[in-house]
Amino acid sequence: MKDLHTFGWYAARISKHLPKEAFKPVPKRLLGGLAYLCIVILGFLTIGFFPLHPFVNLLISLIIGFCFSGLGFLGHEILHGNVVKKPWLRDFLGAIAFWPLSTGPQLWRKWHNMNHHVHTQHDENDPDAWPTLEKISQTKFLNWIYKLPFFIRSLCAFASLGIQFTAHSIKCFTIYIRDFHPKKQPKVWIQAILPWGTWIGLLFVMGFSNWFFAYLLPLLIANFIVMAYIATNHRLNPLVPVNDPLANSLTVTVPKWVDVLHFNFSYHTEHHIFPTMSSKYYPLVKKHIKRMWPERYHEMPMSKALLALLKTPRVYYQQDDLVDPNGGKIYGSLGKGLNPENIQHKQIDGFYTNKKDTHIQSNDKSL
Ligand SMILES: [Zn+2]
Ligand SMILES: [Zn+2]
Repeated sequence: MKDLHTFGWYAARISKHLPKEAFKPVPKRLLGGLAYLCIVILGFLTIGFFPLHPFVNLLISLIIGFCFSGLGFLGHEILHGNVVKKPWLRDFLGAIAFWPLSTGPQLWRKWHNMNHHVHTQHDENDPDAWPTLEKISQTKFLNWIYKLPFFIRSLCAFASLGIQFTAHSIKCFTIYIRDFHPKKQPKVWIQAILPWGTWIGLLFVMGFSNWFFAYLLPLLIANFIVMAYIATNHRLNPLVPVNDPLANSLTVTVPKWVDVLHFNFSYHTEHHIFPTMSSKYYPLVKKHIKRMWPERYHEMPMSKALLALLKTPRVYYQQDDLVDPNGGKIYGSLGKGLNPENIQHKQIDGFYTNKKDTHIQSNDKSL
């Protein structure tokens, strides 16, 4: 606990080593978004007007899905205010960038900027944190899921990355809509309904088979790509009492060209220290973190992080550990005993959740 520091503590120590431009918005990022937008429109027109072989349509779907995810990464940056400063322009451009993922700018800023960033990996207040054992033992559906064999659960969880962003976005809408002032709520509703209205309208214009290739499949692909990052950004890290990005975040590494196309979204620890800085400067921030706190920085290739995600359960036990409630296997988290090269677990005999009184029991008092 005494080793934990807030993101402001790190920012204050790194800022003095950064150039002044690093703290200014970078509107040039919009050119990448414009390119993605043009490709998406071209893809829609090609699928809509030309009778193509399904394999060609599939290839176009992949490209559109990749563009949808790229626009989402840009939208994230825009809505942090790192691309343009004027609030109306920020929200307008952010709405366009998040249109394919049907997430309105007001909702995103509430969910991501004001809650995920402020309360990262806090078991109650971070909307993106995974549940603790106490929580899942009180939820019938999750209790049922965790009775399935671990292997089946992991595979289903992996496949569900293809819908998780959209599902979580709808869930966050239902959670946060009440928190908006009644006068602002209609705007938030409109920002949610308009994108969905466009995509449902497109279904009637194109017909189902063309719509499947132009929108539905690209949406699943984009969900998978953005969730591959979001799932690995924090879910291997412990829950922490202090919002310390070096303890609760993971930076993944991807090929350079992927970083270019994804607006450096892989630099997540850096992003949590400087959320309002253009991601263009995150490689520089990374250099300073690795120089100052090399032993506390978590970084690994995306493929290794996804594999570690597949091999470990997603329920937190006493903040630092991950537990498989079905069998009592306990795994460490990053910085707390988890070695992605060689994932080990402790077997706790007699560990189970009691369905009747949802009381968690274990024979091992050392836990
Ligand atoms: Zn995050
Ligand atoms: Zn962010």
